Amino acid sequence: MELLKERILKDGLVKPGNVLKVDSFLNHQMDIDLINEIGKEFRRRFPSDKITKILTIEASGIGIACIAAQYFNVPVVFAKKSQSINLDGDIYSTKVESFTHKKVYDVILSKKFLDSNDHVLVIDDFLANGCALMGLIDLIHKAGATIEGAGIVIEKGFQQGGDMIREKGIHLESLAIIKSMTDTSLEFE
Ligand code: 5GP
Repeated sequence: MELLKERILKDGLVKPGNVLKVDSFLNHQMDIDLINEIGKEFRRRFPSDKITKILTIEASGIGIACIAAQYFNVPVVFAKKSQSINLDGDIYSTKVESFTHKKVYDVILSKKFLDSNDHVLVIDDFLANGCALMGLIDLIHKAGATIEGAGIVIEKGFQQGGDMIREKGIHLESLAIIKSMTDTSLEFE
């Protein structure tokens, strides 16, 4: 998506540890006009009428998923990062290692909001090593729901997540795929 790539080149900052900061327009301050275009593009790439729910993970996926959901007319449900180990029977849970915080979280989702009738589109801001997406896919499997695909705003193509998800036969659409990045250069695939 050209508009997004131009914005990454203009306002993205590369930080140590292969972290791209896009917090001036995507995941801290949010450019709603841009995210609106992102929502439309996800709809164009996932035209299926079967989708019943959009699933994301807190925190930075939520805003993007909500704006995109207006083009799908389905609810957004977000998996929560739980601090509590007191997990009761009314939730699905999985573990996710955070790329940016290097911590393992229990991630939970109420059974009320996902079941075997659901066809789910996953949306998230970044795909790096794929832990967050694998965790969400695990929750979908636990619910017996069907995964319709995964829409990612920025995939870091030099990390393993994208290949892992595509090898599973999941329909993955990343709006910008970064081939390489250094302090002074950033190249898209
Ligand atoms: P993964 O689980 O694929 O390794 O990482 C995905 C999650 O880590 C995303 O939900 C995102 O919040 C965060 N993340 C991964 N790489 C980056 C990055 O380069 N910049 C930012 N801002 N977040 C990232």
